[in-house]
Parts: sequence; structure tokens; C-alpha cells
Amino acid sequence: MISLEFNKLQALVWSVLNTEPDEIGCDTCFVHLDLFVDLVLAGKNAAGAMPLVQAHLERCPACLEEYEALLLAIRRQTEQV
Ligand SMILES: [Zn+2]
Repeated sequence: MISLEFNKLQALVWSVLNTEPDEIGCDTCFVHLDLFVDLVLAGKNAAGAMPLVQAHLERCPACLEEYEALLLAIRRQTEQV
């Protein structure tokens, strides 16, 4: 069963890689949001590393809200003394 899940994951990654820019959906965006936020918080170029997520956030208010909430939550967590 594990290999089946891995194949599904691989298929998902390939579908993302083969999708034209700004064509990912909310589900795909959400899957990558954690990593995107991690890159932002690490001071990396998240938009450059994950342009599909960046493009989706720019045109999807719902995911942008989710992203900002996640960013804020993690910042609060790490900055809390
Ligand atoms: Zn969305």
C-alpha cells in the first residue's frame, strides 16, 4: 500500500510540474503552502522557488488568506518568549 501511495504522490508531482504556470488549483496550492511558508520564514525566495504557488496566491483570495494566517501563526509561535 505504501508503494501505491508513493506512486500517487509521484503522479501528483508530475502533474504539477507539467502544468502551465498559474494553473494549479486550491488543493495543490494548499499541499505546498507549508513548504512555501517555511521558505518565506527562512528568508528564501519562495516566489522564485515555487512560482506556481506564488501565482495562485496572487489570484486566489481564499488561499492568500490561508497563507497569511499560516504565516502569522508560525511567526507568533517562533517569536513568543
Ligand atoms: Zn486557491
